[in-house]
Amino acid sequence: MKIGILGGGQLGRMFIQEALKYDDEFYVLDPNPDCSCAGISHFTKGDFNDFEDVLNFGKDKDVLTVEIEHVNVDALEKLENQGVKIIPNPEIIKTIQQKILQKTFYKKHEIPSPEFQIIQNKHELDFPLPFVQKLNSGGYDGKGVQMIFSEKDLQNLWDLPSVVEKLVNIEKELSVIVAKNESGEIKIFPVTEMVADPKLNLLDFNICPAEISQNTQNQIDEICRKFVAAADSPGLFAIELFLDKSGKVWVNETAPRLHNSGHQSQEGNANSQFEQFYRVLKNFPLADVDALGFSGMLNLVGGENSIGIVKYEGLESVLKIPKTYVHLYGKKETKPGRKMGHINVLANSREELLEKLLRVKSLIKVKNQDKKSEKTEISK
Ligand code: ADP
Repeated sequence: MKIGILGGGQLGRMFIQEALKYDDEFYVLDPNPDCSCAGISHFTKGDFNDFEDVLNFGKDKDVLTVEIEHVNVDALEKLENQGVKIIPNPEIIKTIQQKILQKTFYKKHEIPSPEFQIIQNKHELDFPLPFVQKLNSGGYDGKGVQMIFSEKDLQNLWDLPSVVEKLVNIEKELSVIVAKNESGEIKIFPVTEMVADPKLNLLDFNICPAEISQNTQNQIDEICRKFVAAADSPGLFAIELFLDKSGKVWVNETAPRLHNSGHQSQEGNANSQFEQFYRVLKNFPLADVDALGFSGMLNLVGGENSIGIVKYEGLESVLKIPKTYVHLYGKKETKPGRKMGHINVLANSREELLEKLLRVKSLIKVKNQDKKSEKTEISK
C-alpha cells in the first residue's frame, strides 16, 4: 500500500520507523530535503500548504494522512472527492486548524472546554479578567497564546481573530490519545501527565500512567467517546486536558495526529501510538495499549545559545542507565528550543521514574559542535 504523509518531521519519522516492519511504501511531502523523514521514505520536496503540491503528491496514494495539522485542506477535500482515502477526514483537520472552529465544535458537542468568547478584533472584547488569548490560526507550541491578567496587560491584546478563554486553576495537565479505525473500533491509551520539575520550573516530563482518581479517568473516557463520535472520522487524536483544583476535567486542545505526549508509549506501553496509527491507516484491529509499568519521556531540546551542527553531550552516560531509550530525530542542526529527540525511561515506581528522569536530564545536553572549543580541549 502507498501511504502518503504530509509533513516530514519527527512524528512521521517515528511512525515510518515503526511501520517499516510491515510491507508498505511510505511517501513524504515536506519543503525541507533535510527533514527527519527524508532519508527513510520516498521523499517529495514541496509545500503541504500549497493546493497544487498536495494535489499532485496525493493523487496516486492509497491513503493520505498528516503529521502536522497546518496543511492545505482544500486539496485534501478534492483528493477525497477523487477517491483517495484521507485519514483523518479533512473536515476535522479544518476544525482543529482554527481555534475558533475548534472551540465552537467543543461547545456544540458538549465537550467540556473552558468558557470563551470569539473576537475578530480587540474592540469586540467583552470578557472578564483574567483570561488567555489564543490566536485563531498560526499558533504552535505555546506561540500564539498569551495570558492577560490585568488591565495593564490589555494593552498587549492581539488585534487579530482569536479566542479569549477563561483561565483554568490547573491542578495537572494531562493528555490522552484515542484511536478509531474505519470499522469503528476505539482504543484509549492510558492517560499521561505533564510533570513540572519543581527546581527548574519547567514543564518537561511526560509520565504514564498519570496519577489520577477513577472519577477523573471516567471524565476523560467520556470526553474521548464524545470527541470521536463528534469527529466522525477514523484517526488517531491527542486530547490535551486540564484537571482543575475542583476535580473537573477540561479539554485544552486536540491534535488530529500523533503527538509528543505519546512518545513514552514506544517502550512504555504494550503498543505505541505509532503502531496504533499504522493500524488505523490500514483499518486493522487496534492494538492493546496497556501500560507496562511506569514510563516517562524527556524532550531533548536545543540548549540556549547553541546554534549549529548538533552534538549530544553525555549521551554515553545516559546509555549506561538500564531501561533508558534514546530517540533522535535526524536533525543535523540545533538551535535554542528546537526539538531534537527524546529519551524514554521505564521504572518500577513513580518515585524511581522521576528520579531517573531527573538524572537523565542532568546528564545530557544538546549543544552545537564548536571547532574552537574542541581545539582548546586538545591543547589543554
Ligand atoms: P499550544 O498549542 O501552542 O501549546 P496551548 O493552548 O496548549 O498552546 O497553551 C499553552 C499552555 O498555556 C498550556 O499548556 C497551559 O499551560 C496554558 N493554558 C492554555 N489555556 C489555558 C487556560 N484556559 N487556563 C490556564 N492555562 C492555560
